[in-house]
Amino acid sequence: MKTEQYFYHLSVLIDGAEDLALEHELDEVVRSHLSGKRAQLVSSASEPLEGENFGRCECCGTWVSDRSAPDCVRAFSDGAKIAGKWYCDLCLPQGHPKAF
Ligand SMILES: [Zn+2]
Repeated sequence: MKTEQYFYHLSVLIDGAEDLALEHELDEVVRSHLSGKRAQLVSSASEPLEGENFGRCECCGTWVSDRSAPDCVRAFSDGAKIAGKWYCDLCLPQGHPKAF
């Protein structure tokens, strides 16, 4: 009998330099809220936000990155830059290859 399980990835954008105390606090918040539920925190990791392949959607403000480019930020929603402005896949103009 196959067990059904899946990962739900949650990303938190932190302003400033790496802050281990804040990261531990976030882990504890998540852990305590999941107590007694069918979910558990199994891992957390941090990585610097680098490069230029990301921005905020011009329409809705969602953080986006072009996932078709090798330097994408996987934690952000997929999107594309048009005329210097970022758009998420939900806000991209109809007909754009990535438009949802
Ligand atoms: Zn959007």
